Amino acid sequence: MNEKIIELLPEDKLLQCMHCGFCIPHCPTYKNYKIETASPRGRLALMRAVAKNELSFTKNFSKYMRLCLLCRACEDNCPAGVSFGLLMEITRAEIEKKKKKSILKSFILNIILTDQNKLEKIIALLRIYQKSGLQKIIRKTGILKIIPPLEKLERLLIPLPVSSLKKNIKEIEKSGSNTRFKVGFFLGCVMNTMFADTSRKTITILKEIGCEVYIPKNVKCCGAPHGVEGYRETQKKLARFNIDLFLKKELDFIITDCAGCGTALKEYKHLLEDDPEYSEKARIFSSKIKDISEFLWNEAKLRNTKKNINAKVTYHDACHLIHTQKISKEPRELLKIISGLEYIELEDADMCCGSAGSYCITHPDDSIKYLKWKIENINNTGADFVAIGNPGCLIQIMYGIRKENLKIKAVHTVDLLATALNLE
Ligand code: SF4
Ligand code: SF4
Repeated sequence: MNEKIIELLPEDKLLQCMHCGFCIPHCPTYKNYKIETASPRGRLALMRAVAKNELSFTKNFSKYMRLCLLCRACEDNCPAGVSFGLLMEITRAEIEKKKKKSILKSFILNIILTDQNKLEKIIALLRIYQKSGLQKIIRKTGILKIIPPLEKLERLLIPLPVSSLKKNIKEIEKSGSNTRFKVGFFLGCVMNTMFADTSRKTITILKEIGCEVYIPKNVKCCGAPHGVEGYRETQKKLARFNIDLFLKKELDFIITDCAGCGTALKEYKHLLEDDPEYSEKARIFSSKIKDISEFLWNEAKLRNTKKNINAKVTYHDACHLIHTQKISKEPRELLKIISGLEYIELEDADMCCGSAGSYCITHPDDSIKYLKWKIENINNTGADFVAIGNPGCLIQIMYGIRKENLKIKAVHTVDLLATALNLE
């Protein structure tokens, strides 16, 4: 007898799919595999079949669910409004429950990624590895090839900043001018440790345009990696903690410069909708979240910069900005107000770069294929910079640029804005 494996999938949401296939041309995994089971429509059909006990839990089922990048391009292009991301996260959570627990994965998600201090210690060790010259030796010898996952992880490592941002900021950073907004800043794990300089610039820009910025140092991971990997209970615990942390202050908005964090934080309202104590708090919290580009363009109405940047720029849409938060106009408009900067549109700008959280480690060959498509398009623009609003995409595209030995520089949109506002 078949075992019912997905009890939690909401049937009404599954039945919303009308099989039209409009999502299919937008799906990178379908473009790669050209089979229905690697398409959103095919995955939904599989989910429906297991939810109705028509299909048993198989390795293949799990494989096609794991092959999905969770880029949510399908969701963005679905006329029926199917919540594909939510359905996939529930499915993965159920798969995770049924299979043998990976001690390493559980350690990373439940111990390291629930405490930014632990992550900072690991990054500090990596900093020593890099600065001591050991990295150069290791890369030259190719010794890590004997442990392929480690080699794949190591090659993505970017030059690390001298310290994390938390150590160099106050909990409340005041504006030099009149306060227009009281905002919170959600300091993401990767931004704090690997892109500290960029987040420092984000805070400086916020202060410059009249924000008093509250930056709680005991903030916890947004929970995005936990959602993707099916660790929904840990994700909920993190959400409750962050909600309490920010809602104790009277804030107009809560800003993030990490698209992945922004999506997770905006979705706390769905994550906790059945939690009687937190559903209302989560709704209020999520309503205050703004990506930095969204805030600067729509709320602060930033329209002028001070300094020319005489260069060409193109822009890559992070999935977690365009597909989940529907933010695509704002970062482009901000780039276009910089005088001297020529904007060039990127072909398939909204196609996933293959980073997709841990996908670049769990599915390295596929990830490289998506990256290759992305890098070819970036190179074809002839731009000097590719601006990006998400650290995961930045790390991946920086790797692609290094691998192909290209001159173009991958930067966060904020990096260019800070230069143009003379705030470096
Ligand atoms: S576009 Fe939406 S309704 Fe149409 S097949 Fe895809 S998921 Fe189903
Ligand atoms: S989330 Fe992305 S990879 Fe997954 S089915 Fe949808 S479009 Fe395809």
